[in-house]
Parts: sequence; C-alpha cells; structure tokens
Amino acid sequence: MQILLVEDDQSLASGLCKALRKEGFVTNHVREGKAARHVLDVEPPDIVVLDLGLPDMDGLDVLKSIRRNGSSIPVLVLTARSSIDARVSGLDLGADDYLPKPFETPELIARLRVIERRLSALPHSRIHVGDISLDTILQQVYHDDIQVELPRREYMVLKQLMENIGKVQTRAQLETRLYAWGEEVSSNAIEVHIHHLRKKLGSSLIKTIRGVGYAIRKP
Ligand code: CA
Repeated sequence: MQILLVEDDQSLASGLCKALRKEGFVTNHVREGKAARHVLDVEPPDIVVLDLGLPDMDGLDVLKSIRRNGSSIPVLVLTARSSIDARVSGLDLGADDYLPKPFETPELIARLRVIERRLSALPHSRIHVGDISLDTILQQVYHDDIQVELPRREYMVLKQLMENIGKVQTRAQLETRLYAWGEEVSSNAIEVHIHHLRKKLGSSLIKTIRGVGYAIRKP
C-alpha cells in the first residue's frame, strides 16, 4: 500500500513517515500542495494523507483538484481546524476521513487500515492466472489452491503484475510500488524478487521483456 503524506510540519512528517514505513506502508512525503498535485499526476499513490494548512495553498484545494480530475483515491485529512464546519467542508469535498490534530499515530494507522480494507474489498478481490490465484483481501497467493507463503515485497511484485496482466511493468514502475523515494534499493532488487517468485510459482509465469521489464501474459 503506497501512501503520499502531504504535510509541511517537518518533525511531524518525519515521525509519521518512520511509523508508517514500520507498518509496511510505502510512504512518500511532500511539503507543499503544488508538489502533491504533481505527484498525484505522475505517480498516484493508493491513499493520500493530507494536511490542510500548507505553505503554498489550502489543502482543500488539493482535495478539490483530485476530485475534479475524477479520481476516487482515498484522502484522509489531517488538520488543526477541528470545528464542525471545517470537518463538514472537508467531507463535502470528498475526503474519506478526517483526523483532528493533535492525534496519536496509532489512531492514524488504525484509520489507514480501515481504508486499506475497504480498498481490498472492491470487487474481483481474487485474481486468477492459470493455476495461480491471488486474494487481495487476505493478501494470499495460491498455487493449485495450495497456499504459498510470500514475503511482503514478493507479494507486491506479483500483485502488481497480476493486476496489470498483459501489460509490461518496467523495473522503475515495480520499484515505486515497493520502495519509498530515497530508500536504498539495490540495483538488482527487482530481479531478486522475480527470481524467488519463479522458484516458488514456476518459471513460466513471469516473462522477462528484455531491456524493459516484466509481464504476466494472459493464458
Ligand atoms: Ca500545516
């Protein structure tokens, strides 16, 4: 699960990034609304955690532009504006949840888990390719209906490939789903995950597209 944190309070942001990464969320951080809009255009995350008091614009305008573009990406608003009016206007503009500052980090994590569960409960939670299936609710993988244990990053590589069946995923695309910006990624990290997946699920499932990336073909 990839999270974009939009927050100008540097110490709050770095504490949250650390806590969220520890929980297994791939978390990226920007300080300003303009930067947030750019990221949302080029590399949309799964969930946005949005502060309203930003240095360059009102966070509500970031929220408005997300919804104006027709995106249904979940947005959790963080703000010191705790009045009922502020809360209502945030929810009216399409925020999914609202957490007044100050808050405890476990509360934020609990609410993100709720959003995560809701996202995975979307229809077609089980994806099948040949004799492999992947359950996005249980986050489990089956080979001939027998469960295969996969570490989180291998699961995420497989999920990304299965959700985009028939389409090539570049190494860079896979890396952005697995690692936060600036996180140390060894140059062959993706190859290593693919190697392990092939060992566990059979060598024919994931195709290497030389010089481009990887793909799972439609059976
Ligand atoms: Ca702020």
